[in-house]
Parts: sequence; structure tokens; C-alpha cells
Amino acid sequence: APVIWWVRRDLRLSDNRALVAAVETGAPVIPVFLCDPILDSLGAAPKWRFGLGAAALDAALRDRGSRLIYRKGDALETLRALVSETGAETVYWSRAYDPDQVARDKAVKSGLQDDGVDARSFTGHLLIEPWTVETGSGGFYKVYTPFWKAVRDRAMPEPQPAPDRIPAPDNWPESDRLDYWALGAAMNRGAAIVAPHLAIGEDAARGRLGAFIAHRVGDYDRARDIPGIEGTSRLSENLTYGEIGPATCWQAGQRALAEGKAGAETFLKELVWREFAYHLVWHTPHLIEKNWRAEWDHFPWRDDNADAETWRRGRTGIRFVDAAMREMYVTGTMHNRGRMIVASYLTKHLMTHWRVGQAWFDDCLVDWDPASNAMGWQWAAGSGPDAAPYFRVFNPDTQLDKFDRDQSYQRRFIAEGQGTPPEDARAYFDAIPRSWGLSPDDAYPDPIVPLDEGRKRALDAYQARKDAA
Ligand code: FAD
Repeated sequence: APVIWWVRRDLRLSDNRALVAAVETGAPVIPVFLCDPILDSLGAAPKWRFGLGAAALDAALRDRGSRLIYRKGDALETLRALVSETGAETVYWSRAYDPDQVARDKAVKSGLQDDGVDARSFTGHLLIEPWTVETGSGGFYKVYTPFWKAVRDRAMPEPQPAPDRIPAPDNWPESDRLDYWALGAAMNRGAAIVAPHLAIGEDAARGRLGAFIAHRVGDYDRARDIPGIEGTSRLSENLTYGEIGPATCWQAGQRALAEGKAGAETFLKELVWREFAYHLVWHTPHLIEKNWRAEWDHFPWRDDNADAETWRRGRTGIRFVDAAMREMYVTGTMHNRGRMIVASYLTKHLMTHWRVGQAWFDDCLVDWDPASNAMGWQWAAGSGPDAAPYFRVFNPDTQLDKFDRDQSYQRRFIAEGQGTPPEDARAYFDAIPRSWGLSPDDAYPDPIVPLDEGRKRALDAYQARKDAA
């Protein structure tokens, strides 16, 4: 009887335990990619990008005489139907850790097991299973540094090579066509602009890692803070769809460390930030939707508002904020320093709820990750674990002077005021809806809120809440 490999955020053939286990059964393997309600409800950019990644995996499978079967519908029902069509007795997949997927996977596992199917999940999306790290008193970690100290010397999982052969069944079951799902439909507007910035598929992801380790990790400590240069790995886009596994990245980072490359330890630490985000989400799933600290429920955040819309449009008149928001429009990602600045500006200077910003990132980021995005927003807002204290308000102008000294970042993304703006700065105007009526020849807008005024308003509200508590 064939084995079903349920493909999810593990679009890779190497470093994939679920796939290796499927192949080791010796039976034919049927790789299946589902468009279930969870995939269907993703934001425009991640949904589109997920489809591109699935197509790349399909191509890689076809090179090995296999292929991807596409099916649409509720996960349990669809898998049940496939089990009965194919006579499969086994369904394997790589584990997920965010609450929506966990709930779905539990239902799938128990449903299939009730039918007598060997339904099993494997580790691989993370280095560290969230329940395997405990503090001295038996709880979970709420602060990053002790978490890092607790895990850094662990034996991490070794990446396994891709199987040489993926045995195919005599007859393939019916498959939908990926284009019929129209995953890219929501991205029609910006897709052509964003596409050249992507690195899709396992080979591209490994290429990215290789180039980063060979040329950039040495200077990573310094360069990673400068948004105008390519100083980071850009692997978040691939890690989120599992086009590369964290174990592969960890191993490459460890080798670089052993070779004495200076920035390698910082890179390893960043990989563990991703683990930490999932550790938190696993133990406190409300991190994704609610203030992690309940005392913030009483803070007078504003709901969505006109200033927030100006923020989304990259028209606040604050250059670092606008450059970063436009970077996301044009490239589908945003430099980490930009993320910190725009999140701080929205939640403090504009006193708008972090959920408003999170929702926009959910829709726009090709590297969208449920845990890292929520943790990042709650960190910036001050409502999360291990968060920046609310009274520490980033000044985006000072930050820009410090981290964009040669102005290459702002010039790259803000066209206004430049006689011949660079391509990315112009691309923003091609990406946004025409109805906004904007042109690169417009004057650059004045600040919608003077920075000192916005800062004072936020701090006054914070103080008033503290006094009332
Ligand atoms: P590198 O600097 O090369 O780091 C290597 C890897 O480490 C990254 O690919 C990522 O997997 C991990 N990493 C690095 N920094 C962080 C961090 N702060 N938190 C968690 N993991 C980290 N990251 C996402 O992957 N998806 C998101 O949706 C996301 N949303 C964010 C929202 C906000 C408000 C903030 C402040 C941060 C967010 N981050 C998110 C974290 C971080 O900005 C990105 O992971 C990073 O910019 C990705 O670039 P890179 O791959 O070049 O990172």
C-alpha cells in the first residue's frame, strides 16, 4: 500500500524526516499538497508565494520520477478520500506549532487513526521542540537570553540528505491544477513587481545560504543593522515555507563558527529567535491574537484609522517609516530594523493597536510567519514577553541618521525629490493602486504627526494608565 506524504511548510527534499520516513517504508510515495481553509485564509502575499513554492517542489519531484498531487478542501475529509482512493495505510507530515495548524493536525491525526491509518507527524520545522526546554522551575521561557543559554550547546538535529529515489505508484490519483486555485489572484497588482526579488524553491534557498556563509556572515554583526546593504541572509522567505530546514542553516552556521567567521554566532542566535517565537506561541498561543500581558487590554490603543492608512501607504512624511513600508510593497519583505521602526511608530507615535499593523504584515510579507510576526509586533508594542519597555520610543529620524548614513536606503525607496529615482523607488508607484493618485514627481509629504508630539501623546497615555492601575 502506498504512503501519503502530506506536504505543508516543508517544501524540500533534503533535511526532511517525514519524507525520509515515507521512503524508508519501501512503499510508493504519494506527495500531496492541500489547499485547505488555513492555506486559503492566508494573506495575499504569503498565499501567492506558497503556491510558487509548491510549484517548485512539484518540479523537483518530477526530476525524480515523482510529482505533487493537488487537492482542495477540509484537510481530514480530503486525506480520508485520498486514503480510500489509493488504499494508503500511512500518512506522514512535518509538524506545525501555531494554534490553527495544531488544532487541524490533531483532528486529522485522531480522525485518520480512528480509521486505522498510521498517521504520524515528524520534527523538522524547528530545531527545538517547544516542550523540550524547561526553566529550572519547570516552566517555559519568557525571556530570550536564558532560552538561548539553555539551548545553544544542545545536539541539534542533523540534516538528512534527500532520498535518491522517491518510488512512484503505478497509477497516480487525480490531481487539481494549481492554477485553478488562483492563489496568486489577490497579488495580481503587486506580483510582477515583487517577483524579481524572490528566491523560490530548495535550490535557490541553498544558494542563498551558501552565498551568505561564503561572503557575508563574517561581517554580519555590523552589516545586519544597515538596511541599505544586503547584510543578512534573507532566508526568512525560505524558512517559512520550509524550502530550507533550520537544521541545515544551523549546521552551516556552526561550520562558519568553527572556521572563525566572526558573525556566525550572531547568525545562530537569530535562528534561535525564530525557535523562541515558536516556543512562546506553543506555550501561550494567545500571543498571536491578544495582548500577551493582559494589563495592556486597558491601554487606549486606537483601532484602524486614517493615520494608519497613511502608514500603510508609506506616506507618513517620516522617511525611515515610508522607505520601509515601500520596501515591503516592492520586495515583499522588510529589513528587520525597518520592521522595528514602523511597528514602534504605528503603536506609539500613532497610538494604533499592534493588531492593525500585524494584519497588514500578514497580507504583505512573503516571509510571513505566524509566530515571528506576532512576537515582533508585541515586542514593539510593549505588550509582549521580553518586550521593549513602552517608554523607550524609537526616534525614526535619529535611527535613520545612524543606520542609513549614506542615505542609500531612503534613496532606494523614496522617489520624491530625486531627478532620476532608482528603479525600486519608481516600482512603488507601479505597485500601488492608481486610485491613490500618486506620482514620483509629487512633493514628499510633511509629517502627519510631528515626532515629538506623537511621542509625548504616547507617553502621556502610558503614564495615565499606570497612574490609574
Ligand atoms: P537574518 O538576519 O539573516 O536572520 C536569519 C534568520 O533568523 C531569519 O531568516 C529568521 O528566520 C531568524 N530571525 C532573525 N531575526 C528574527 C527575529 N527578530 N524574530 C524571529 N526570527 C528571527 N520574521 C519572519 O520570518 N516573518 C515575519 O512575519 C516577521 N515579522 C516581523 C514583524 C516585526 C514587527 C518584527 C520586528 C520582526 C519580524 N520578523 C519576522 C523578524 C525579522 O525581522 C526577520 O526574520 C528578518 O528580518 C528576516 O531577514 P533575514 O532572513 O535576512 O534574517
